[in-house]
Amino acid sequence: MRLWTHLLRSLRLRCPQCGKGRIYYAFSKMFHHCVFCGLVYERESGYFLGSIYFNYGLTALVVTGGYPLLVFGLKLPANIVLWGTMAFCVLFPLWFFRYARSMWIAFDQLIDPGVSRPRIQIEKSDEE
Ligand SMILES: [Zn+2]
Repeated sequence: MRLWTHLLRSLRLRCPQCGKGRIYYAFSKMFHHCVFCGLVYERESGYFLGSIYFNYGLTALVVTGGYPLLVFGLKLPANIVLWGTMAFCVLFPLWFFRYARSMWIAFDQLIDPGVSRPRIQIEKSDEE
């Protein structure tokens, strides 16, 4: 259950812990922490290196499944599919890196939700 909650929140680019806070405020600009629960997104320097696994993995999976399907299944010309596949390999990871980072944060939060993760104290106002 928590897996699906974390996955859906990451696909919506929301904080995996509370689901309310946004992770990005621009296309490639991230918030430092969640403004609702204080979860720090970048745990340490180099933390997002792990998100490459998600980005590369999905790209490789789509190409590995898509190329044979298009060439042998739908009988499309191999050279056209090859050029399309190469374009996909360049453009898709550029678009998907936001989701890969978000999925990495959610995966990390799912595996290690403990106290070792840095948090910012969010002060609640009495007016709410
Ligand atoms: Zn949050």
